[in-house]
Amino acid sequence: MEDIKGKKQRAKKIFEALDPIYTREKTALKYSSPFELLVATILSAQCTDKRVNQVTRELFKKYKGPEDYLKVPIEELEEDIRPTGFYKNKARSIRGCAQAIVQDFGGKVPDSMEKLLTLPGVGRKTANCVLGAAFDVPGIVVDTHVKRLAKRLGLTENTDPDKIERDLEKLLPKKRWRRFSDLLIYHGRDVCKARKPLCPDCTISKWCPSAAL
Ligand code: SF4
Repeated sequence: MEDIKGKKQRAKKIFEALDPIYTREKTALKYSSPFELLVATILSAQCTDKRVNQVTRELFKKYKGPEDYLKVPIEELEEDIRPTGFYKNKARSIRGCAQAIVQDFGGKVPDSMEKLLTLPGVGRKTANCVLGAAFDVPGIVVDTHVKRLAKRLGLTENTDPDKIERDLEKLLPKKRWRRFSDLLIYHGRDVCKARKPLCPDCTISKWCPSAAL
């Protein structure tokens, strides 16, 4: 069985191979404040970043801060975010977050995992996204792609996202955590797809124990 040293070496190779392929500009959610990032992250569930960016271009002109989301009827907010899908749940989460941030945190998105997790609809994945991108706090985001790729790449034996997060943290330096999870997400969307991984076209196949070439 492969030891931790072997896994670390492979994780490093995988990082270095994927990093130049997925440029930050091409792939990132657009935002100009921690609250906008929180809203964009909520909208990105089951939706492409491209679509989210199309919607938030107008949304963030209309809603400048958390208070603005509380001023309109929820049906209006639902309409504004409708193209991102699951808009009723997402509108409820955004409103709940806006309310809690205004009431409990003086209108500012909190910058700790513990406090972020008190916001309605915010789990570790969203909290890690916000902490990493808005506050530069390192963290591994374990979404459905990271979960699948970590397993296929033999970087974890676990299926529980919190345990996968711990396993991946051991393999790379802190400063690479956030970027590594982003790279796995992009690679999962483009190449290592859920139903049919495109192994013959995969840049990291030589470090992947599941490669079907
Ligand atoms: S070789 Fe196949 S299974 Fe492994 S990461 Fe690439 S696409 Fe996924």
